Amino acid sequence: MGRRRRKVIRMPKKKLPKVFLCPRCGRESIRVERLKGQNKAIVKCGSCRLSAVIDIKPIYEDVDVYCIFTDQYHSGKLLERIEVGGQG
Ligand SMILES: [Zn+2]
Repeated sequence: MGRRRRKVIRMPKKKLPKVFLCPRCGRESIRVERLKGQNKAIVKCGSCRLSAVIDIKPIYEDVDVYCIFTDQYHSGKLLERIEVGGQG
């Protein structure tokens, strides 16, 4: 009985591509991209192309960055078009 022990399947702790709800177009296509070596992150909507560079701290989670992003969007501080080098 029960000779075969099944291993507990562990979820790999990989970083899943997290997407967030866009405050402008309402789609789940916001991505947070951290800039290496800088306390900054680019938040981009893959749908309506809304994007911003957000000042962050290393301890910030993606969701924190996203919160700042939406906050700035709603208070009208966001520039809707920021040129980001090296797209792709
Ligand atoms: Zn959008």
